[in-house]
Amino acid sequence: MSLLQVKEVTHSYNAKKLFTWKDQSKKALIDVSFSIEEGTCLGLLGTSGAGKSTLGKVILGIQRPQHGRVLFQGYDIYHASKMIQRKIRRDLQVVFQDSYSSVNPRMTAERIISEPLQNYENLTLSEQKRTVISLLERVGLSEKDLKKYPHQFSGGQLQRVNIARAIALKPKLIVLDESVSSLDMVTQSLILQLLRELKDDFGLSYLFITHDIKAAFSISDTFGVLEKGELIGLYDSKDQLFASKHPVVERMRDSVLAEHPRLRTLRARGNLV
Ligand code: ADP
Ligand code: MG
Repeated sequence: MSLLQVKEVTHSYNAKKLFTWKDQSKKALIDVSFSIEEGTCLGLLGTSGAGKSTLGKVILGIQRPQHGRVLFQGYDIYHASKMIQRKIRRDLQVVFQDSYSSVNPRMTAERIISEPLQNYENLTLSEQKRTVISLLERVGLSEKDLKKYPHQFSGGQLQRVNIARAIALKPKLIVLDESVSSLDMVTQSLILQLLRELKDDFGLSYLFITHDIKAAFSISDTFGVLEKGELIGLYDSKDQLFASKHPVVERMRDSVLAEHPRLRTLRARGNLV
């Protein structure tokens, strides 16, 4: 059984307005189906407005779709019992793009990372502190960062705090919604490296949402491409994505190839499709 199954999900914002002649709401998601296997990362690609964040929210249980189902470990997340829903919330975490707006500016790193532990674990204060320190160390920060406030961290460091919070409860799946998109290239590659290590160490699965095909390539095992709410392609490997003749995929690929003379040469020679 797949860890996550998304089945025929369709969603419109403001779909049921009264007193309108016809339903003029734009569909953010149209009949989207895919699954994520345990321990793998699905890169969800698409341009701005394609519906990626909406799909992320549907999976996180915070945007109930009008049609379709989301199964996590076989449980329908919108119809499971309260007890199962609580377990799903624990196993399903998220890291958003904007590290600053995803945290309370008046909370120290210690409190930010402690929050999920307080909600789910029965730890003594000293156990909790030890856990937070080991989480900080696991993401490349240290005990010295415990008492720092969000504004005292760089964007990349704060994203590490957000990642520490996301892994605190040893979840099964993390939705990463443009989590590295606003970081500079060097920081981006360091965070991607950290995410890859965590994935291997904890057997984590990711839904890696991005508009950046290069970032997706560096971390994903499988790929989906969303365009105007529709999943126009699902690919089991980088090779498959590279071989796709879909114009949307070609456009994304070309935007990367244009930056890499070596790849351009390979393509001209016909060594790359
Ligand atoms: P992406 O993350 O791929 O940029 P989104 O899922 O944010 O795309 O948005 C998909 C579509 O849904 C867009 O047309 C957007 O304007 C619309 N949309 C997103 N959030 C809302 C909302 N809360 N209310 C109304 N429309 C929304
Ligand atoms: Mg988005």
